[in-house]
Amino acid sequence: MTHLGVWNIIYSEGTKKMNAISNEVEKLERQRADMVQYQLRDRGIRDERVLEAMGRIRREEFTPPSTRRLAYYDGALPIGEGQTISQPYMVASMTSELHLAGDEKVLEIGTGSGYQTAVLASIAKSVYTIERIRELHSKAVLTLIDLGFRNVSARLGDGTQGWEEAMPFDGIIVTAGAPRAPEKLMNQLADGGRLVIPIGDRRSQSLTIFTRKGKTFECRETFLCTFVPLIGDDAWESN
Ligand code: SAH
Repeated sequence: MTHLGVWNIIYSEGTKKMNAISNEVEKLERQRADMVQYQLRDRGIRDERVLEAMGRIRREEFTPPSTRRLAYYDGALPIGEGQTISQPYMVASMTSELHLAGDEKVLEIGTGSGYQTAVLASIAKSVYTIERIRELHSKAVLTLIDLGFRNVSARLGDGTQGWEEAMPFDGIIVTAGAPRAPEKLMNQLADGGRLVIPIGDRRSQSLTIFTRKGKTFECRETFLCTFVPLIGDDAWESN
């Protein structure tokens, strides 16, 4: 074969690969737009900031490579260490419940993949996030840095203790199921701020919203849900 023939083969293999990659990108973009329409808008998510953020953030960057093509699946997906990335509808509902306008400081307990963190950081002014599993914490930090998020502070530790140095928070979101609202989280809420947390037993919880009114809290329950357990000093024990 002539040199030119070899180059033609290499060139056409390269082009095929590039076409395959751009087909995959287009497919994921279509799936993302469908997710926003069918899983979120059609089910009643109305917060345009949330819809815009979730229509822009590439969820496939937060799922493990083996489940990349399932990134827009209508349910939770495993992310390793026995944990999950929450269903898109759940992320949208919880974020909407915080009523974010753009100027808030938000605390998230349970960084996991970092996807919910990214959605919050796209809307709020700053986000503080805590994860108890080192591998997930490190991976999420790398992903968020890679994607250019500069308004996120991440910490490894027990989120039931909150983040005292950064309090008060306009919103607190707990992405794991708890037996009750941890007292320190309630105390770190700003006046008028909201705490969104799944409360119940280990198998089933009710998504609960506390709104701080001075020294008292208004409490509202929304729908039933199932989260991995919140494990810590003011939550479930590890076994
Ligand atoms: N928001 C995540 C959901 C991850 S699942 C996402 O979108 O991917 C819930 C996470 O909470 C798990 O990673 C789990 O390790 C973490 N977690 C459980 N108890 C915790 C605690 N006390 N403090 C911090 N993180 C905790």
